[in-house]
Amino acid sequence: MMDLKQLDKEYVWHPFTQMKQYIESDPLVIERGEGSYLIDTEGNRYLDGYASLWVNVHGHNDASMNEAIIDQLGKIAHSTLLGAGNVPSILLAEQLAKRLPGNLNKTFYSDTGSAAIEIALKMAYQYWKNKDGERYKDRNLFLSLKEAYHGDTIGSISVGGVDLFHSVFEPLLFKSLKVNTPHTYRMDVESEEEARDRVLDEIEHVMERHHEQIAAFILEPLMQAAAGMLRHPDGFLKGVERLCRKYDILLIIDEVAVGFGRTGTLFAIEKEDVIPDIICLGKGLTGGYVPLAATVASDEIYNMFLGDGYGDQTFLHGHTYTGNQVTCRAALRNLELFDERQIIAHVQSSIEYIEPYLDALRQMEEVGDVRAQGLMIGVELVSNQQAKTPLDAARVVRILEICKEEGLIIRNLGSILTIVPVLMMSHDELKRLFTIVIQAIQQSK
Ligand code: PLP
Repeated sequence: MMDLKQLDKEYVWHPFTQMKQYIESDPLVIERGEGSYLIDTEGNRYLDGYASLWVNVHGHNDASMNEAIIDQLGKIAHSTLLGAGNVPSILLAEQLAKRLPGNLNKTFYSDTGSAAIEIALKMAYQYWKNKDGERYKDRNLFLSLKEAYHGDTIGSISVGGVDLFHSVFEPLLFKSLKVNTPHTYRMDVESEEEARDRVLDEIEHVMERHHEQIAAFILEPLMQAAAGMLRHPDGFLKGVERLCRKYDILLIIDEVAVGFGRTGTLFAIEKEDVIPDIICLGKGLTGGYVPLAATVASDEIYNMFLGDGYGDQTFLHGHTYTGNQVTCRAALRNLELFDERQIIAHVQSSIEYIEPYLDALRQMEEVGDVRAQGLMIGVELVSNQQAKTPLDAARVVRILEICKEEGLIIRNLGSILTIVPVLMMSHDELKRLFTIVIQAIQQSK
């Protein structure tokens, strides 16, 4: 048999990876999946504790998902949305409009979360120009959180702020305004409410001064995942919505990571009854099967792009695979299965089920903070509880290695373990996952 590991090292450039380290390591090559398990070329089975990068809903190799995709392939794989519709993209857009609140009725498709963000930024910017270019000529800035992560394109990096990922590209980015993240654990505050109110005050201050220059506020709701699972205090999202309305600033919500059941409701915005002007969806949109993203805009936004001639108010943006049939069909089946399998009820029972394990983690001397929003969990590891000193990198690697040896894959963001199980993982599998993590922390000493 070909030495796939060797070929991988020779020919594949992996994302967010220092390839020199990768080449010197003994990486897995995944060949198959079965429910909550990933299976490598040597037949080893690993519990998928990162939902294959926060996307997988039903488990791998799900017969119903496979069937829908195969059935679609038997009809057509792709035709362009330029000047024509296609069946799954129409039915999916209708379903999204029905499931999203307010009048978020107009879906613009793309294929990655980053593109969905890029589209939202361009839409928001052009909205003001189309509305009244003279009056709103200065609305050229976006407001976002300092530690935000919204993807890897130049636009999405411009509204991001994870230094490790973004600082090298600084000279290429467009200017945006940034405010602090309400990250209670790292703030000098007495309570979550104090953290929330302090940051909301800061936002109001910026909006007061700059509202005539701000096209939109962009926010990942409830939990900033890639920034280190930074859980927002309750009421923060609602507070941001209130300020956007007060200062007439558009609200763009990035549900690429937290959407599709991850936090215990289909969309995270439901938790605080918030209705944005634009919402970005990706990852779990297709149950984690094929790449699709969507930027869904309100009727008010969409209507501002209606004009008489081609260049007149038109949104001049698109991608070759915009509205691809196979991916839209997968997303449609995913949404049907959310109903048929009562996935939200399952997630809610899982959230309750894991609570004792989260408490057990909180008791460990190496654990400084456990932050959870539904089935999206960050475990911040420290070497000193008082000083909140991050646990050294070698020990974190050891923990991940032990997990792998025990048949579990999770990932880390620095000293934070990120646990994002396949959404439909069974309670027994969740028990196994947390038992392995707790033992790995103990054994890594
Ligand atoms: N927005 C958020 C909140 C994300 O977590 C991510 C990816 O992790 C993105 C956007 C970008 O999505 P993609 O990696 O599909 O481009």
